Amino acid sequence: MIKFLDLHKINQRFEVDFQAKFKTFIDSGHYILGHGVATFETEFANYCGTKYAIGVGNGLDAITLILKAYMALGELQKGDEVLVPANTYIASILGIIQADLIPVFVEPDLDTYNISIADVKRKITTKTKAVLVVHLYGQLANMDAIQQFAGSNNLLIIEDAAQAHGATYKDNRRAGNLGNAAAFSFYPAKNLGALGDAGAVTTNNTQLAQTIKMLSNYGTTSKYVNKLAGCNSRLDEIQALFLSVKLKQLDTDNDFRRKVANQYLSKVKNNKIILPLCTESKSHVFHLFVVRVNKKEEFMSYLLKHNIETLNHYPIPPHKQDALRGFNHLKLPITEQIHNTVVSLPISPVMSNDDVNYLINVLNTY
Ligand SMILES: *Cc1c(COP(=O)(O)O)cnc(C)c1O
Repeated sequence: MIKFLDLHKINQRFEVDFQAKFKTFIDSGHYILGHGVATFETEFANYCGTKYAIGVGNGLDAITLILKAYMALGELQKGDEVLVPANTYIASILGIIQADLIPVFVEPDLDTYNISIADVKRKITTKTKAVLVVHLYGQLANMDAIQQFAGSNNLLIIEDAAQAHGATYKDNRRAGNLGNAAAFSFYPAKNLGALGDAGAVTTNNTQLAQTIKMLSNYGTTSKYVNKLAGCNSRLDEIQALFLSVKLKQLDTDNDFRRKVANQYLSKVKNNKIILPLCTESKSHVFHLFVVRVNKKEEFMSYLLKHNIETLNHYPIPPHKQDALRGFNHLKLPITEQIHNTVVSLPISPVMSNDDVNYLINVLNTY
């Protein structure tokens, strides 16, 4: 069986280093916000090219905390509208709702699956104050157009970079450094994944960074002094230590993912399978390799019959979920078309060449 993603195989590569870190961790006697978190924050900020990285509990909290910090700073108000692509993972939408802001669902482009500038222009109102761009499946959104539009309409740009660690724009800036602030998730399956829940915010804004740091730790400025009504969403010390080990491997792993993707892109020739469009090679880190087919269930069971595991990202769009009943009436035909036809193929930094070739053969005989 070719697994969709073999997390054990991915992490096995670091086992010796993880064990050394764990020993350091136990011996330190300092289990919350210790040296490991501070070190990883510096390393991750350097990697992204930002002044700050603030470790938080997970990716959803990273999104929520950015928005709540802007509210605490008076730059966003309760009820302001945030533009967001409709075909994202539900966390992007929930982060906006949890911060008492209003998500405005924007259609994606059918070729890149990223937010459509044309639809952004249709959906903006006088209440729109921010755009939450999602670099979906690992490919950066069209940031030139978004920056231009946001600049002329005074909108904050927030990146949901949970799928795009290391993706590099054509001007060499990385995901996390392409807007006012960015949210990362280190959920185990992400390109940079912890061994549990973890997340971070990156930004160049000093005030925002301080506010997020404060909010994520009970609104604390110094021990037992609380300036804001914050929450508890700290990056776990042991996860930070593991992440420092894995960060060193991220570029190599992303290169490997791109190599696998390029094989699929050049060797899969089947007009029943629509391959993804990759606009600039370095701007895609192929967190997922997503194809579209007319008969999704049939295609997935065909692959399973040939011992290939696939997944759907995502079977139901957020606006059609019971959890978001207030948005169920929205008509988003491109988003719905995408959700009805997408299938994610196995891709990872530990796939063997034989697996890739086998997959290509099976795809070409579908
Ligand atoms: C994974 C993911 C998140 C949420 O991350 P968690 O760490 O699971 O909270 C948010 N947005 C996108 C696009 C994601 O893929």
